[in-house]
Amino acid sequence: MNWLRRGLIALVVLAGLALIGSQVFKRQIGEAVFERAVASNLAVDRSGELPDGIHVYLCGTGSPMPDVTRAGPCIGVLAGDQAFIFDAGSGSVRKLGSMGFPMTRLEAAYLTHLHSDHIDGLGELLLQAWITGERNSPLPVSGPTGTDMVVNGLNAAYEIDRGLRIAHHGPGVADPAGFGGAPMIITLPTGPQGRLVVYDEAGIRITAIRVSHAPVDPAFGYRIDYGGRSVAISGDTIYHPGFVAGAEGVDVLLHEALDPEMVGQLEAALTARGRERIAKIMSDIPSYHATPEDAARAASEAGARELVYYHTIPPLPARIIHPVFLGEAGDIFGGPITIGEDGMIISMPAGGTEIVHSKAF
Ligand SMILES: [Zn+2]
Ligand SMILES: [Zn+2]
Repeated sequence: MNWLRRGLIALVVLAGLALIGSQVFKRQIGEAVFERAVASNLAVDRSGELPDGIHVYLCGTGSPMPDVTRAGPCIGVLAGDQAFIFDAGSGSVRKLGSMGFPMTRLEAAYLTHLHSDHIDGLGELLLQAWITGERNSPLPVSGPTGTDMVVNGLNAAYEIDRGLRIAHHGPGVADPAGFGGAPMIITLPTGPQGRLVVYDEAGIRITAIRVSHAPVDPAFGYRIDYGGRSVAISGDTIYHPGFVAGAEGVDVLLHEALDPEMVGQLEAALTARGRERIAKIMSDIPSYHATPEDAARAASEAGARELVYYHTIPPLPARIIHPVFLGEAGDIFGGPITIGEDGMIISMPAGGTEIVHSKAF
């Protein structure tokens, strides 16, 4: 058994050397790791590697509920050479940074409605658009009535920071003219089928579509068309025929969803713990969100090629829970179904039929 003993000793010596080496060279190893991280992540715009078409960045697939893996609602869209952001929930702008989103190509932001979870990252977006986006005019932010109050309020809230940044970095870096947002109110034609083209340039068409999120009114979904490809974003809504009509034939339908049974379980647990106020919220919210089956019905009736859930309620911390959340959705919609996660990029090359998923992190 001499060979075994010798082998074991050799292993122990090697492990010891590795341990000593990692301690002695700890700093050098750290420096090498940092160098590599800088080269591959810092201000990297990976959009140049993408083919012409529509690329959807899932920057926030969560809801107002705490979720360590999901930021608040946010969808980034790169269409051709121009980028757009739809809603900016809490934490989502940092996800965009980690995804290599082309902030310097950002044309405009669009809001679906003014619930806090859809706008509580907007201040950060305005700052990032100004500095990392190298803007020299305010970012246009379009949305329903009240968007002016939100954007002007954020401009005021960041006014002190504006002065500090310009004074410290100089106007060549922080162009005073590029600070903040320029609000624009979208007014849709009345009626449940209300829709309006809100952007039509460089072959990119963005349409605002009325949805149903009462008592929040108006609330919008959006559709983006470019290069023969299309994507629709529901915002917050129950099943709404007007949205289905507006999303007709899209390649990808991004739809919110709430599972009433799971939320009912949360309500019961909160009630049992004497947390009546939060339990009341759990009993209120199912009335103005779609169920996973409703979203599947919308995708099926719209003739969408693929359904992607975002703004999922409750949080889904483990994939083993996904089938519980989806329920009968797979029987209602025959196409591919994805439960969106932060960091996913969904690509639709122009003129083709392919839908390619990738993960930025
Ligand atoms: Zn809402
Ligand atoms: Zn919401």
